[in-house]
Amino acid sequence: MATSRNIIVAGAGIGGLTAALALARCGFRVTLIERAGQIEEAGAGIQLSPNATRVLISLGLADRLRRTAVTPQAVVVNTASGGRLARIPLGNATEARYGAPYWSIHRGDLQAALLDAVRESPDIALRLGTSVDDFVVHAHGVSAACRNNNVAADEHGIALVCADGLWSGLRHRLGQRTRPEFRGRTAWRALLHTERAEPAFRAADVQLWLGRDAHLVHYPVKSGALINIVAIVNDRWSEPGWTAEGAREDLLACYSAWNWAEPVRAFLALPLRWQKWALYDLPPLRQWGDGPVTLLGDAAHPMLPFLAQGAAMAIEDAAVLAACLSQNPDDPAAAMRHYERARRPRTARVQRAARSNGRAYHLGAAEAAIRNFVLRVAGGSMLLRRYDWLYDWRAPAVAAAKIDMLPSPRAGEGERDMA
Ligand SMILES: Cc1cc2nc3c(=O)[nH]c(=O)nc-3n(C[C@H](O)[C@H](O)[C@H](O)COP(=O)(O)OP(=O)(O)OC[C@H]3O[C@@H](n4cnc5c(N)ncnc54)[C@H](O)[C@@H]3O)c2cc1C
Repeated sequence: MATSRNIIVAGAGIGGLTAALALARCGFRVTLIERAGQIEEAGAGIQLSPNATRVLISLGLADRLRRTAVTPQAVVVNTASGGRLARIPLGNATEARYGAPYWSIHRGDLQAALLDAVRESPDIALRLGTSVDDFVVHAHGVSAACRNNNVAADEHGIALVCADGLWSGLRHRLGQRTRPEFRGRTAWRALLHTERAEPAFRAADVQLWLGRDAHLVHYPVKSGALINIVAIVNDRWSEPGWTAEGAREDLLACYSAWNWAEPVRAFLALPLRWQKWALYDLPPLRQWGDGPVTLLGDAAHPMLPFLAQGAAMAIEDAAVLAACLSQNPDDPAAAMRHYERARRPRTARVQRAARSNGRAYHLGAAEAAIRNFVLRVAGGSMLLRRYDWLYDWRAPAVAAAKIDMLPSPRAGEGERDMA
C-alpha cells in the first residue's frame, strides 16, 4: 500500500472502524490494526442518538443498521418504587426535531455493520491479531511498531490515529501519564428474550429506573427480539475488562425489596447470566496528540455511561477527524490540532454531563425528592430540549469543513459552560 496517503488507525473498536470508513470516503488509504484475533461480539446494547446516527447514515450504513436497530418511542423515567417521573419523546418526535433517528442496537450488530463496510472498502487494509506497541515520527510521517504472534513488523503512514480504547497504551506513549480512575460503580448487563418479560417491560422504550445507590436501564435490541438490561450499582469491585461473570444473587441483593418495586425485582431475576464491568473515566485531557498523531474515542475521552454517549462521541470524532484531514491533507499535524480543538470542548462537556447524571441517578431520599419534583414538573418535551446541544450536532462537511461552526445553531444557553 502506498504510504503517501496512508493513515494508520490503531484499534478496530467502534471508533477505529468508523474512522477508517470516514477516512476512506475522503480519499485516504487506511491500515486498520486490531490487537484481537477477531472482532468480538462482546457487549450488549448501545443507544445511538441522532448526533451519531447522522454520521453512520452519511457513511452509507442506514440499510445495514435498520435490519436490527429498534427506534425507541420514549425514554421513560421511573422511581425504584414504580412511580412515573417523565416520558421523554423519542421516535418520530426526535427524528423530526433533529433530522436523524434515535436507535437502540446490539453492540455486535453495530460492529458487524461497520466491519462489513470496512471489508468491502478497497482502501482499507484490516490487520487482525496485530498490536501497535510504539511509534516514531519522522520526516515522511509515522512508523508504527507492530507485533503479530511475536513477529515484529512496521507500518508506515502520514498519520497515526490511536483508537485503542479506555486502557490505551498509545495514550501513555504520547506522554499522558494519568490512568483512568475507578468511579465506585459496576455495570451489570444481561440479554433477555422479550417474550419472557412481563408486558410492562416489553415496550419499545428506553426505561430508566432510579433508586438509592442503584439504577436500571433497559431497552429492546435485535429488532425487538431481545431486551438489553443494564443495572448499575455502587460497588468496590474494580477489575478492568468488559466481560467478567457476575453472580445473579449478588446483583439482586443490591435491589432490595426495601427500595425496589416487586415487578422490577422479578424482572431482574429473569436472566440467568450476568456480566459486569467496573466503571472508569478520566478527567478531560489537555492534550490529545503530537505531530501527526492523535487520540480518538475512549482513548481520548473515557466517560461514564450515564449519558449513553461513549460510542457516539467516538463516531463524532471519526467524522471530524476525516473532515479535518481532508481539508488539510498535506499537513496532517495541523489537521490533527484542528481536530483536537474542535473536539476537546464538546467531549469534555459530555464527560462532565455523564458524571453529573451519575450523581443525580443515585441520590438519597431528600435530594431524590427534589430531583423527582423537577423531573415531573419539567415534562418530557422540555427535558428533550435540554439535550439539543448534544443531539443536534452536525459533522462538518468533508469538502469545506468549517470547524468553527460546529456548535449547533440551536445550542443556546447550554453551550455557555463549554468555555
Ligand atoms: C469487548 C468490549 C465490550 C464492550 N462492551 C460495552 C458495553 O457492554 N457497554 C458499553 O457501554 N460499552 C462497552 N464497551 C465500550 C464501548 O464500546 C466504547 O466505550 C465505545 O464504543 C468507544 O469505542 P472505542 O473504539 O473508542 O474503544 P473500544 O471499543 O474499547 O475499542 C478499542 C479497540 O482497540 C483495540 N486495541 C487496544 N490496544 C491496541 C493496540 N495496542 N493495538 C491495536 N489494537 C488495540 C482493542 O482490542 C479494541 O478493539 C466495550 C468495549 C469493548 C472493547
